[in-house]
Amino acid sequence: MSLPLVHLGYCAFFAEQMKDLPAELLPARVVGQHRREWDVTFEGGTSRSFLAGKCWDPDRGVESADAQPTVGDWVALRMGEADSLPVIEHILERRTWLSRANQMKKSERQSIVSNIDHVAVVAAFAPPGSHDAVLKRSLHPRRIERYLTAVKKGGARPLVILNKADLADDPEGKALRLRERLGNCQVICTSAKAEAGLDSLRAELQPGQTVGFVGLSGVGKSSLINRFIGQDLQKVQTERHQDARGRHTTTHRELFVTSSGVLLIDTPGMREFAVAGTSEADLAAFSDIAQLAKECQFRDCRHKKEPGCRVMAAVKSGQISEDRLDNFRTIAAELSETSRAQARKKGPGRPRPQPERPSGGWDDD
Ligand code: GDP
Ligand code: ZN
Repeated sequence: MSLPLVHLGYCAFFAEQMKDLPAELLPARVVGQHRREWDVTFEGGTSRSFLAGKCWDPDRGVESADAQPTVGDWVALRMGEADSLPVIEHILERRTWLSRANQMKKSERQSIVSNIDHVAVVAAFAPPGSHDAVLKRSLHPRRIERYLTAVKKGGARPLVILNKADLADDPEGKALRLRERLGNCQVICTSAKAEAGLDSLRAELQPGQTVGFVGLSGVGKSSLINRFIGQDLQKVQTERHQDARGRHTTTHRELFVTSSGVLLIDTPGMREFAVAGTSEADLAAFSDIAQLAKECQFRDCRHKKEPGCRVMAAVKSGQISEDRLDNFRTIAAELSETSRAQARKKGPGRPRPQPERPSGGWDDD
């Protein structure tokens, strides 16, 4: 793959950062991730690359995934001499970022994708009469709200995609009800199988923009991406999934360039999605509730049984769904737990630790 950098999403935000770095370093975008190697695309080509030793977290050694690049990152690359691979010397500051809390260490984050304009939150309809296990993995407003919380926090624009519309009774009616619940959020019904709704999705995306696809495995992320890329995908995969010696390798996150110029990033399915945040300001996905809460009689109203509670009044009148309010409470409680964990980690009187950075272990399913 050889493309002008702007077609890969390069912009002044990153060019400014490159100005402060040694002139021999080249800007490159991370387009694939392997265990300890990254595929990077720069002006002139794509190559496997390593991360410079100084970028690994010195406190925890090279096993730590904390300081690693993530797919979508812009990096400063030092080209290798002769046959040696290029080395990633710096990870440029991210424009936007999607991350979640590390399940093992609540005070840390796992990076999912970076520098995305949109995040397509994909859920799937289940066929009528499905048994519980299937229903559990299908469209769940609470799970979608959880994703939206993380997307909004990271600065990207969410697009909710309800795929497998071919299986559902009245998919548009269900989409409408979800749209009402979520407030100001785009909800699009698609069928990768029947090739329906794809134009509505395409209409939201501009050339040069990057879209990350997230959602449980099996909802149809790869199928949707395939539909976008068409027949080229197969070719891209056979090239990418072999290293320089032709060995088969696997990667679970990759950036694809479509013929329309939109950049798509596939991510592994995530079973758990603990939101990573530290304050109520991270709850922009529930801004409708926050807005109403300003009108509650008591400033510390918990929206339960307090008199003059504007939020409960909105629930009673049907303006806000009770389930949404309940999910808001759950997520807000998780955020306070994360923030307490971070406070404990920092300890009293210690200098501010490393900025929040990603941590390993993504391939949930
Ligand atoms: P991913 O794990 O999210 O990438 O999901 P895949 O794209 O691998 O799809 C999982 C399964 O769902 C596959 O068997 C697909 O053929 C099927 N699938 C994907 N999209 C649709 C759709 O729109 N309708 C139906 N009925 N099946 C679909
Ligand atoms: Zn209240």
